[in-house]
Amino acid sequence: MDFSNLNKQSSKSFHKQKNLIKQLMKGQLVKCPHCQQSIKLYLPEDKVKPGARCDKGCTDIDLEFA
Ligand SMILES: [Zn+2]
Repeated sequence: MDFSNLNKQSSKSFHKQKNLIKQLMKGQLVKCPHCQQSIKLYLPEDKVKPGARCDKGCTDIDLEFA
């Protein structure tokens, strides 16, 4: 089995997610590529699970704050 392509893909999407979070933190509007709804950023002080999510839940990125 050759996992090199898989690793490349997941690291690519990891960077994509990081960029998305960065944009949201700057207050930019980011739309979900699946449903075109705007993605909302949830921070720990919002008292919900921190992350970036769209209303429909097809984009659901967990954020971990150390
Ligand atoms: Zn969505």
